[in-house]
Amino acid sequence: SCGINFDKYDNIKVEVTGENVPQPAETFQSAGLCQFVLDNVKKSGYLKPTPVQKHALPIIMSGRDLMACAQTGSGKTAAFLLPMINTLIRDTKDLIITSQHCEPHAIIISPTRELAIQIFTEARKFSHGSIVKVVVAYGGTAVYHQARQVMDGCHILVATPGRLIDFVNRGRITFSSIRFLVLDEADRMLDMGFMPDVERIMNHSTMVPNGERQTLMFSATFPVDIQRLAGKFLHSYLFLAIGIVGG
Ligand code: ADP
Ligand code: MG
Repeated sequence: SCGINFDKYDNIKVEVTGENVPQPAETFQSAGLCQFVLDNVKKSGYLKPTPVQKHALPIIMSGRDLMACAQTGSGKTAAFLLPMINTLIRDTKDLIITSQHCEPHAIIISPTRELAIQIFTEARKFSHGSIVKVVVAYGGTAVYHQARQVMDGCHILVATPGRLIDFVNRGRITFSSIRFLVLDEADRMLDMGFMPDVERIMNHSTMVPNGERQTLMFSATFPVDIQRLAGKFLHSYLFLAIGIVGG
């Protein structure tokens, strides 16, 4: 869909630290994505994975937690959405819908309404035609409509921290079926003062045992507060840095 030239990133410095690092995937096919997801990737106009995608896809596909640092515009969204959607399509049984609350299988926390909507749109493209249902929720708008959508049930919930905390506090969402928790643009959430909310949300996710939940963090930079958060909530994770990452 877009004519972005990622070739300039081909010789970029890549650092991966942690135990048992999977081989990077040179193509979307070799990342082990199912044909259904590959078809949606193709429809999106993505010809080959960007550097962060080459490394993150096999890591997430193998079930590992990940802390990934890469600059804005490097393709971090698909890096987490593709393996997540692949897993949810493969494993998802029927949605658990009760009149009481929603139990999403994946929650993506995003700092702003605009970014949340972008992630939501990409997630819909990559899951198009599957049973995976995606909902987006953000503040600054009437809660009623979004609450209805969330209560109707979803597999993937993309939300800003404030609105998510609001739903959690009202008992509209529980974390008991969480398979993926993603913190996108972690450094921006820090700058915007969302860390207390984010940490409260991440604490909720720990009600699901480590082995049954993957926690993924994405950031452009890696300041100490993000390092601390990674150390606290990620489990035997891999650290991936693409290009020069400031601290
Ligand atoms: P980031 O989250 O790292 O800032 P995005 O995920 O928003 O970056 O991606 C930036 C742009 O590049 C988006 O328009 C996205 O659709 C596009 N893009 C991402 N990956 C690819 C790819 N493999 N091939 C072509 N375009 C891509
Ligand atoms: Mg992004």
